[in-house]
Amino acid sequence: MTLPTTHVSFPAGAVTGESTVIAVHPLGDGRHAVVTGATPFHPLDHTWPDQPADLGTLTVDGTELAVVDCLTGAVGPDGGTPLVGADIPVRRGDEEWSWLVLHVVDTDPGDLLGRTAVLTVDADRRAALSASHSGCHLLALALNEALAPRWRKDPGRSDALGHPDFDSLAMATSVMDTEASTDTYRLGKSLKKKGFTADATDEFPALADALPALTEAVNARLAAWVAADAPVRIEVPGPELTARRQWHCELPEGGAQIFCGGTHLHHLGELAELRTELRLSEDGTELVAVTRPKRA
Ligand SMILES: [Zn+2]
Repeated sequence: MTLPTTHVSFPAGAVTGESTVIAVHPLGDGRHAVVTGATPFHPLDHTWPDQPADLGTLTVDGTELAVVDCLTGAVGPDGGTPLVGADIPVRRGDEEWSWLVLHVVDTDPGDLLGRTAVLTVDADRRAALSASHSGCHLLALALNEALAPRWRKDPGRSDALGHPDFDSLAMATSVMDTEASTDTYRLGKSLKKKGFTADATDEFPALADALPALTEAVNARLAAWVAADAPVRIEVPGPELTARRQWHCELPEGGAQIFCGGTHLHHLGELAELRTELRLSEDGTELVAVTRPKRA
């Protein structure tokens, strides 16, 4: 028998929960993965590992175990040990497979099967990661707007606010931690072919020279959104880990949606400030945005 896909409560912002232990798997390095039917823990996603794992504790009958990592595990139709990371041979959410939140403990927890675990996420770390993740999506929208004049033709993909979607068309990597979100964009030939120009034109200077003004424009937009205390929610089509969730923010310019598996603020007034720094890589082929939220 294979295990059911884990039900998750982190999209609504939960940081505590109680659930039955349905499996314990040795991970081969002394560590073990504890699987429960439901969990508030946000695991590292194996296909889009932008948001780091939640940490915290798992308590069974008064014995507390530290959750030192949290991973996405996948079990095929034939059962067996969950695969993680690059070992998973199928697409995220493949319906033939079970998708599990693996709470990693660095000891042998003994026989926990069928017992009730109290699950407690490190709430401060979660809040910091949620702030960085919301900041990441807002940066995307503000940057798309600031760079919109640099598209010489319609690249065929717009964001929720109607601007050419530089963020998704140029995205190389997106990494967040408890301090910031770092988004790296590739300014290569393919972006140029789609119509984006980093060169000087009659209307604006080369991107390198425009960075201070661009940074100022993006930061002004971010500050206005924080000041508007825009509400944020995650639209959840189902309780399963693999449900296709959507970040939704009610900005003054209109509702903005982005598909997202992470955790977020409930409203932007939870921030005192959100600022980004834009720079170009030395060879000029990458634009890097480091976006730091300051929590209120
Ligand atoms: Zn996201």
